[in-house]
Amino acid sequence: MSDSSLRDLYQDIILDHSRHPRHFGPMDDATHSAKGHNPLCGDRATIFLKVDDQDRIQDVSFEGRGCAISVASASLMTEMLKGRTTAEAKTLMGGFLHMVKGDEVQDLPADDRDQLEVMAGVSAFPMRVKCATLAWHAMNAALDGKDTSATE
Ligand code: ZN
Repeated sequence: MSDSSLRDLYQDIILDHSRHPRHFGPMDDATHSAKGHNPLCGDRATIFLKVDDQDRIQDVSFEGRGCAISVASASLMTEMLKGRTTAEAKTLMGGFLHMVKGDEVQDLPADDRDQLEVMAGVSAFPMRVKCATLAWHAMNAALDGKDTSATE
């Protein structure tokens, strides 16, 4: 597959996630939640997590509104987090942050890297990096018990 058709494929995946976000909606029995806001673009996302006593993420959802990149990134994230431990979720986030900044990503399994690769194109658009990372920062804040909306 050529580079340009691969890019088209990724764009299709991003558009599909932004139009039909997965795991969209509030969660009544969430154990962790946090809001994120990207004032540069106006994106808002609230992340809900249900973590069991083994530190494993049993369920995850999000709600909010924003540009296609922010919604697609949140949707993609929720697809990847279910069943992971909180430590694995943080490792995933670290790898994702490196990827969207255009850095080398070495600490992720190939399967995870392939899934996240869809968003790697934003590294060429520094203004959009905050759109792509919004949900991940909110997820991290939720796990740390820090609601980022408090800083607004
Ligand atoms: Zn945005």
